[in-house]
Amino acid sequence: MVRRKVLIAEPCGFCSGVRNALGMIEKKLETTTGNIYILKGLIHNNGIAAELRKWGCIFVDTVEEIPPGAECVFGAHGVSLKVKKLAAEKMLRVTDATCPLVEQLQSQAQSVTPEQELILFGHPGHPELEGVIGHAGTEKIFVVRTPREVEELPELEHPILLVQTTLSHTEAEQVKKALKLRFPNAETPGNICRASLLRQQAVERLAPQCDLFVVAGSSHSSNANRLREIAEGCGVRAVLLDSPSEVTSQLLQGVRTVGLSAAASTPESQIEALRKTLEETV
Ligand code: SF4
Repeated sequence: MVRRKVLIAEPCGFCSGVRNALGMIEKKLETTTGNIYILKGLIHNNGIAAELRKWGCIFVDTVEEIPPGAECVFGAHGVSLKVKKLAAEKMLRVTDATCPLVEQLQSQAQSVTPEQELILFGHPGHPELEGVIGHAGTEKIFVVRTPREVEELPELEHPILLVQTTLSHTEAEQVKKALKLRFPNAETPGNICRASLLRQQAVERLAPQCDLFVVAGSSHSSNANRLREIAEGCGVRAVLLDSPSEVTSQLLQGVRTVGLSAAASTPESQIEALRKTLEETV
């Protein structure tokens, strides 16, 4: 018996960059007998990472951890130029699953000149941001997370703003505005990717109709966290759940309508399992 209504945000779940990365690793698994080393994660989903480990994939953070000549995959978030060079020196057999939209961002960073200051709206430590920094054509790089941090920047002459692909579109606009206000000559070509934008707008449309909003995704997924924050910003209680086993009666107490979205790295099977559990849990 259906006990409550679960409304699914459209679109949600896999984006083209994630599908592309998974397709590449599947092909690699079909043709490789030894271990495959995945550098800095393929995509940010714990369930998929566990599956890949079962198939002999080893997740590493640095090229140093990979034996010379081994099979190696660069994940969808991309890597720096230095990492590419180190991989070539170690004669690694590389499959590059970097999302084309991240590659576009990397090449924008590469074309920033040494005289310009690169302002990156992003999360320090995120592999995508590290890869973009590792392509920058300037050494003058400033990472900002809020409009307040824009105000705290030193005096700059030729600032140019680029944006991590999975951040909040409204926050990106606020940072852009703050930068333009502070530096009227600032160039602001950066934006989040279209897949992230469409998923965020779907949450904004759906969340106000719900008593609770659930985002299916892993806690280290940037875009999953943004979707949860966006739902919360619509005044709805919102949680991030990695598995149906995290659904409890307490979470659903008094809830008649649940909104459900999913990170760009969350598979359809996980969304469906969560939908069913949310509907049926007493
Ligand atoms: S979220 Fe955007 S940038 Fe990231 S993999 Fe998907 S399409 Fe590419």
